[in-house]
Formats: sequence, C-alpha cells, structure tokens
Amino acid sequence: MQALNDIDVVIVGAGLAGLTAAHELKKSDVSFIILEARSRAGGRIFSTMTEDNLPIDLGAQWIGSGQKRMMRLASEYKLQLTPTFQIGNTLFNLRRKQKKTKGSVPSLSPVAMLEVKKLKKKLNKVSKQIPANAPWDSKVAKQLDKMTLEEFILKHSHSNVASAYIRLIIEELLCAKLYEISALDFCWCIKSAGTLEQLLSAESYWFKDGAEKVVDQLIEPLKTMIYFEHPVHHIIYEEKGAVVFAGKQSWKTSKVIITVPPNLVTKIDFDPPLPSDRIQLCERSGFPSVIKLIYVYDRPFWRELGLNGTAYSDEPPVNLTIDSSPVDKYKGILTVLIGSNSAREIARLEHGLRHDLVKGALVRLFGKEAAFPLEVFEKDWTADIWTRGGYGTHFSTGVISQFGPSLIQPVGPIHWAGTETASEWRMYMEGAVQSGERVSNEVVRSLKK
Ligand SMILES: Cc1cc2nc3c(=O)[nH]c(=O)nc-3n(C[C@H](O)[C@H](O)[C@H](O)COP(=O)(O)OP(=O)(O)OC[C@H]3O[C@@H](n4cnc5c(N)ncnc54)[C@H](O)[C@@H]3O)c2cc1C
Repeated sequence: MQALNDIDVVIVGAGLAGLTAAHELKKSDVSFIILEARSRAGGRIFSTMTEDNLPIDLGAQWIGSGQKRMMRLASEYKLQLTPTFQIGNTLFNLRRKQKKTKGSVPSLSPVAMLEVKKLKKKLNKVSKQIPANAPWDSKVAKQLDKMTLEEFILKHSHSNVASAYIRLIIEELLCAKLYEISALDFCWCIKSAGTLEQLLSAESYWFKDGAEKVVDQLIEPLKTMIYFEHPVHHIIYEEKGAVVFAGKQSWKTSKVIITVPPNLVTKIDFDPPLPSDRIQLCERSGFPSVIKLIYVYDRPFWRELGLNGTAYSDEPPVNLTIDSSPVDKYKGILTVLIGSNSAREIARLEHGLRHDLVKGALVRLFGKEAAFPLEVFEKDWTADIWTRGGYGTHFSTGVISQFGPSLIQPVGPIHWAGTETASEWRMYMEGAVQSGERVSNEVVRSLKK
C-alpha cells in the first residue's frame, strides 16, 4: 500500500460522533485527521440565523435532562439552555378531532387511558429485556424482530383510540410509519434511553444560540486536523492498516473510524469488500424522510390563545410543532416537523404549493395569524446527499436480529461509530457523543496491542 501520509487514525465524518472521537484521541496523544464530505462540520446539526440574527436550528435542536453528555457539553462550553415552552395547552389533532390538554397526554376516555398505560407498560417491560449494547443477544430478539411496531401495538392494544395516540407520538419520534419499523428496533431505542417516558422527554431544552454552537466549540482545537470537502470514496485495507482515499489525496493509517450512517457506508468502495453481514446491514438500512421548517412571526401569538405551541397531528402534512421563541426577544418562532409519507408527498410539490399546504395545516391548528409568517426556513434532509433523511436510521423487520452484530464489529483496522451504533440514546446527539467515546477507547486499546 502506497500513500502520502502516515497517521495513527483517519476519522471519516465531522459530525458529533467524529468530533467526540477526535477529542478523545487527542487526550491519548494519538495522531489523527478528520475527513469530512461537507464544507462544514456538524452533520445532522445545522443552525442558521433569521433576518434579525435570531439563531434557529434546521437540524438537531433539543436535549433531555437524562442526556448527561450533552448536558455536560452545554455546561463545559457555557452554552445557555432554554426550557421548551410549556405554559398553556398542548394540541392533539387525533382522528380528525382537535383536543387541547395540559401536559403530554390528550384527554381520552377512561378505557382508552387505561389502554395507553398498559401499552406503555408493555413497551417498557419488553425493552427491559434487551441489552442496550447487543439487542440481538436478547432472548426476545428474534420474536420482536419478526414483528413491525404496528403489529406489536395492535397485538397489545384493544382500543383504536389508544393505538392511534401511541401511533401519533411514536411516528413523530421516529419520522417513520410504525409498519416500516421492527418492534425490536423501537424497543432498542427505548432501552438505550432508559424508559419510554425518558425517550418522550428528549425535547425538554434547546440551545439558546443554536445547537451548532456545540460543534463550533468542539472544532476549535481541531481546525488544522479537519479536511472539509473531502468525501471518502475508497478504502483499501488489510489487518494492520488502511489507505483512505478522498478526492485525489490518500492517507496511510493504522486505524479508520467511520462515523457516517450505514446508508452512506454503501457509497464507499472497500477493497477487499466488507463482510457480507455488514454489507447486508448497510443495504437494508435507510433513513426515514424528514423536513424541518421554521416559521418566524412577529410574536408567539398562540400563547395569547392559551396554547404552548406544541401540537401533534395525524392529519398530513404537519406532524409536530414546537414553540422555539426566544425568551429575551419578543418574536414568535414555531418549529414544524414533517416526517415519513407526508415529507415525501410534499417534497414532490413545487415550493409555493408545499408552503400553502403547511400554512393551511398551521392555520387549522393555531388560527388565521399562522398564515402570516415574517420568514420561513426549510430543510429537506432527505434531499441532502450527505445525510439522506432523519432523524436517524431505523431498521425494518429481520435486520437487527440477523445482521446487528456487524454494526459495531470492527473489520480489520476499521472501527464504527455514529449515533446509529450507540447503546445510550441511539439516534440522538447524546448517542453520537457516546459512540465517539466508545470507539476512541476501542481504537486506543487496539493501537496499544
Ligand atoms: C431534522 C433533524 C432533527 C433532529 N433533531 C434532533 C434533536 O432535536 N435532538 C437530538 O438529540 N437529535 C436530533 N437529531 C438527530 C441528531 O442530529 C443525530 O443523532 C446526530 O447529530 C448524529 O451525529 P453523527 O455524528 O452520528 O452523524 P452525522 O451528524 O450524520 O455525521 C456524519 C458526518 O459524516 C459526513 N460524511 C458522510 N459521508 C461521508 C464520506 N463519504 N466522507 C466523509 N464524510 C462523510 C457527513 O457530512 C456528516 O458530517 C435530528 C436529526 C435531524 C436530521
């Protein structure tokens, strides 16, 4: 193998996982570079500014108090967190009926409420049996992985209203239809967060100055080690090392850390090819579709109507809205999330029609004033070639139980990270950080051998 440079580790991807791995390697005096396809770091974290310089997040935004690594980063970098606005009623647009409620559960009939409780309890109980770092080893893995999440919910619920409510909140969490996802995949998500209740509290705080501030802080000491606009396209490897190709350059290295999500691993040409389990896993993985929009208004007018800005809806196209208005400037900012089929359907429409549909949905939820935003921002993550969807990869039936171990199993000098590989808070920023910590330990240990 001939290449230009000798380096201990090449990290592929400057998202949160890659940047965390780099920080950890730096502590161990291991030499490394980061190759990043985009012209910016952060991957699925992407902040921008409104006309009057209010930071907004078009990618990852919220964290929960149980996410200790993200909380630690916020405190270490002195980044202010804003609690998600919760004064007033949450809206539920469920089965064409609109309900206002205090808290996160709509007022349902006593029978439906009991069913919701039973379903949540069942999901927690089953998830408890899954090892968060190896769900495929669980006794219930095969059985759960045969079933879509939709089948699981229908099997354990005897109330259409209860299953409609559970479907609504989980489909928002995953950006996918329940029939697309394996029950094992979702139970693994629950286990990695602790409980379903913890998973549902992941949107408790947001970074006042944008989540990208975390990335800005992380890249500060790494600037000379990151090569932007260097998509890795080819990796030649043997047991003792690899040559990594990005553009016309190549780097000879002892170890490679790949942090790109499994769907994008398929875009890299490996020589020799990856083991067939790894290839199968990557080829059977994909991101759900998601579009994130930000509507900026002259004030958070919904608060005057006694609403807190959070609205869940099973009527297309809007799935979820959350108030992201600044506490210190009186502007109204409504974050709008559109996932799954709705995201695909409206992405096919031309811009004007798409926005009319979204505005129409907001008017139905919040009244006429919603039709008059000052500014609108939109990011269709499915169209972004360096991500291809969001929030994270979810597997359909039969994938995790058969090919799951290959997700984290090193292949010669190649080690895997990224939120998709996390055992804590997989699919979240917290999971990306945890995977970066895990992989750097793994690599440092194996370099010492
Ligand atoms: C719309 C949206 C909203 C979200 N909201 C939240 C939220 O509120 N809270 C939360 O915790 N999480 C949220 N998430 C999920 C969160 O963004 C991710 O879990 C996390 O950022 C993943 O980090 P990562 O480093 O694992 O992967 P990524 O951020 O995807 O990083 C991978 C990096 O690899 C690069 N790359 C890809 N291919 C190559 C290649 N061939 N060569 C070199 N580089 C390559 C990419 O450009 C990218 O920078 C959201 C995601 C989306 C899309």
